[in-house]
Amino acid sequence: MALEEIRSRVAAAEQEANRPAGAVTLIAVSKVQPLERVVATLAEGHRVYGENRVQEAQGKWAELRERFTDVELHLIGPLQTNKARAALELFDVIHTLDRPKLATTLARLAQERGACPPLFIQVNTGEEPQKAGVLPDDLDAFVAEVRALDLPLEGLMCIPPVEEEPSLHFALLAKLAERNGLSGLSMGMSGDFERAIALGATHVRVGSAIFGERDYG
Ligand SMILES: *Cc1c(COP(=O)(O)O)cnc(C)c1O
Repeated sequence: MALEEIRSRVAAAEQEANRPAGAVTLIAVSKVQPLERVVATLAEGHRVYGENRVQEAQGKWAELRERFTDVELHLIGPLQTNKARAALELFDVIHTLDRPKLATTLARLAQERGACPPLFIQVNTGEEPQKAGVLPDDLDAFVAEVRALDLPLEGLMCIPPVEEEPSLHFALLAKLAERNGLSGLSMGMSGDFERAIALGATHVRVGSAIFGERDYG
């Protein structure tokens, strides 16, 4: 099935880029997908999933986690501060830290809980007004702010503009990460994950290529 094919394409892209096998984490983006498709990949042994809405993920994964242990859940969609507590309880990694207010809220909650999942800062590499993310020019200052709050910052994430060559954005994200001493790069989706791996992605977020098209009905 499609998961197998995507796994082997990830492995081939790692090899092509002279990167160690397993250097890239394949996040299966299960948002909106029918439950039986998600269960099929769990039955095949996949354990790393991405969701973009806290509420949708809560319902779905509370039950699935009882049946399948050691699932690792990644939040890849925008996070409102009033959902931050729920997000910290549910997710193992958060890819969408994008503003100071969210950083201070996460820091306060993390202190209360005594734990915080690894975080990625979302960067608006295309500087699109409608898109979330820190602007490239503001990134270094924001990284410093997040570090000053003692938050576990792991890397950067981007969603390139649909009509542009994604490689330019992946290369920019890699440069910004290196400049800030960050090793994690969350970039690459169904249509471009091999290009992202060539440019250093550590996490690719693949939905429709694994599960089929999403039906928003
Ligand atoms: C939905 C989504 C994906 C997966 O997109 P596909 O094109 O289906 O692979 C990846 N990243 C983010 C942030 C998403 O919202």
